[in-house]
Amino acid sequence: MEKKQSFALALHGGAGTITRASLTPELEKEYRTALRQALEVGYNILREGGSALTAVEATVVNLEDCPLFNAGRGSVFNKLGFHEMDASIMCGRNLEAGAITGVRNIKNPILLASEVLHHSDHVFLSHPGAEEFARNQGLAFEPDAYFFTQQRYDQWQALRDSDVYMLDHSETEEKKFGTVGAVAVDLEGNLAAATSTGGMTNKNFNRIGDTPVIGAGTYANNKTCAVSCTGHGEYFIRNVVAYDISCLMEYKGLSLTEASNLVVHQKLKQHGGEGGLVAVSYTCEVALPFNSEGMYRGSWVAGQEPTVAIYQE
Ligand code: ASP
Repeated sequence: MEKKQSFALALHGGAGTITRASLTPELEKEYRTALRQALEVGYNILREGGSALTAVEATVVNLEDCPLFNAGRGSVFNKLGFHEMDASIMCGRNLEAGAITGVRNIKNPILLASEVLHHSDHVFLSHPGAEEFARNQGLAFEPDAYFFTQQRYDQWQALRDSDVYMLDHSETEEKKFGTVGAVAVDLEGNLAAATSTGGMTNKNFNRIGDTPVIGAGTYANNKTCAVSCTGHGEYFIRNVVAYDISCLMEYKGLSLTEASNLVVHQKLKQHGGEGGLVAVSYTCEVALPFNSEGMYRGSWVAGQEPTVAIYQE
């Protein structure tokens, strides 16, 4: 008898030096609640028969609207004191993708990436060109004040006159990556991945990380898996992380867990690339590996209990 297709969703809200000591119990609770709510958004769409693409988009919109995470509303400041945001989304059924980089004042960058996927002849738009496309598509813009968070402003103040750029962090020595992302497999067996970020605090203006680079920070292919990454973007670009995991499955026959552990715990680690990722396979296998101290993460496989976690277990 043919096995009934199930569905699954996983998400992240960034990785880095996240320890029990670095979060107050109240803040930890806020993060857990936010992750759980975002999981519900995507899970409900999948349960109703919605597509993986719709589910990952809606999940990331929810996380972008939450100032706790470095994406959309909570984006970090770049070297010039602006919020420049990157996002991408990919459909595993037809390998269509949409990506945008360096956009300012767009309320939900993932919706712009999605517009590129659905309503343009292109895959990747940047800076003013991407913003003009957003205006033409009727997307919501917000003033700079909308993206202001005191904690991220203070982080930037500590670095602004230096050449140091940092992953979203709470204290100067700490590294915390606050990008958000989601991956899903739906009832039809289609996969999708979406990732969105404000990048790194005090990053050079117009610096582009891995998040909007298809194959590095985001990838989905129905034959293998859907992957969304978070971490020090330069390493993820150079290691083509998301596509590498798919290739290890397709060409070497590794399972999702084997492939993602190999990439995160060996390949990235030996180059000093800190971070992690969330991934699902076409068989509803879920992998949430990270080589940093913590990663905000959650997953929900149909018929099972949802899980939300922050630290190393
Ligand atoms: N990967 C992102 C970047 O390098 C940062 C993050 O994950 O927080 O822009």
